[in-house]
Amino acid sequence: MNEGSWDYKPFWDEVINQFNEEYSPKEINMWFERMQYHGSTESSVVVAVPSSFVQDQIEQRYARAIEDRLLEISGSPLKLDFHVQRSPSPARETRSPAAVSAGGNKSEVSDRSGSPQGERSELKITQPTRRPHPSLNQRYTFDNFVIGDNNNFAANAAMAISKNPGTAYNPCLVYGGVGLGKTHLIQSIGNTVYHDLDNAKIIFVSAEEFTNEFVVALREKKTPQFKNKYRYADVLLIDDIHFLQKKEGVQEELFHTFNALYEANKQMVFTCDRPVSDLRDLTDRLRNRFERGLNVDLKPPSYETRMAILQKKLLQMDREIPESVLDLICNNVTTNVRDLEKALTKILAYAELVGKEITEEIAKQQLKDVFVNHHQTNINIDFIQRIVADYFNLTTNEMKSRKRTNAIAFPRQIAMYIARQITELSTTEVGLEFGGRDHTTVMYACEKIKNKMKSDSTIEPMISRLIRDIRESNAKG
Ligand code: ADP
Ligand code: MG
Repeated sequence: MNEGSWDYKPFWDEVINQFNEEYSPKEINMWFERMQYHGSTESSVVVAVPSSFVQDQIEQRYARAIEDRLLEISGSPLKLDFHVQRSPSPARETRSPAAVSAGGNKSEVSDRSGSPQGERSELKITQPTRRPHPSLNQRYTFDNFVIGDNNNFAANAAMAISKNPGTAYNPCLVYGGVGLGKTHLIQSIGNTVYHDLDNAKIIFVSAEEFTNEFVVALREKKTPQFKNKYRYADVLLIDDIHFLQKKEGVQEELFHTFNALYEANKQMVFTCDRPVSDLRDLTDRLRNRFERGLNVDLKPPSYETRMAILQKKLLQMDREIPESVLDLICNNVTTNVRDLEKALTKILAYAELVGKEITEEIAKQQLKDVFVNHHQTNINIDFIQRIVADYFNLTTNEMKSRKRTNAIAFPRQIAMYIARQITELSTTEVGLEFGGRDHTTVMYACEKIKNKMKSDSTIEPMISRLIRDIRESNAKG
């Protein structure tokens, strides 16, 4: 029973729980037990009461305290509204047409100023479809997800979870490189549960949003609201948890959230760009929580899966392009579904603009950037470290070490600079890959190399050569 996406029952239950401890048994018996949760609107909790008298009394005595507590628990200002429900409740059929039309469009929830008497007011709490979940993208569904050898374990686990949240695999962690469908899968779970279970409270956030929210809550002294928001989730989906590295405060918070939800058998799903064991700067106890349950990976799609993905997208858009062009795309964009989509979109846009059939030649010309970028974005930082280290006759361990002699510091700075040039890693991520250095160190290294390039004309050709070697060795795998 729910209208739209509003369901504050868990907050209401918690208020009653807390009040049961705080108020006398007499008051509980006399007033609190006469209120039943009835429904929610966007900004209110509606309780059913047996008479207007009870409503008036509760309003005068407790409404304030209840609303204050709701605010504390939910983090948002929720009004307490009443619905007078006589028992045994008269059948709906007894409503006269006049009474119905008198209700008109006015909300049928009685407000504080007076309650519609004699008429059984109906709260519109069931609607045929839930409005879209505010933080889920409707496009991400299992129907739209092409299953291949690379992802079938993860996809099947995700589908099983969405059928039985909290019981099948809990927690579940999906990991894999950029553009392989992590966000698509985790949101598909959210969308499915959201549509199948009317009452389920689903929270989807990126680890970055979770962190920012936590920081704001700390600053504004609203951590109880923050905690409550997350601890009342039925399904908690957190995308890209690698973002939590080095952020101890928020790791600690998530650890407690995890435990609370785990105890309550609430479903949790996380995604990460690498296996949890490869995460650095993560507390052991949180790592241990992530490794509980099921860890599944997404691998790059095979040629057949890439082709199937493109064909599915064409079918959905009711468009066609020649087989040879599809083949060209599949051969050049090999490890990343996002780039595969980008290539297709670009070709389709071009075809539409010039109104011509796309040939292989045109496609090659049009997709030059996509192909090049694609090769760039998937360069593994290990290759960079290895090739730069070889060039300077060092070991990769020396590059990552704390040593600061010029013989090591300079090659390290070169490698950091190159990593920033040809990968999408942030300065923070690059720093982590070099023995857990701070992002400012990486920024400093890049500045230093740029300046050196200006004053020393041998540097630039050396870097170009290194980049070429890195690309080649990366392409060979
Ligand atoms: P990630 O979160 O792993 O970086 P995304 O989930 O954002 O990747 O996926 C990138 C794009 O590729 C999205 O548009 C997504 O819909 C699409 N995609 C990924 N995997 C598949 C798949 N197996 N079938 C269809 N589309 C996919
Ligand atoms: Mg993602």
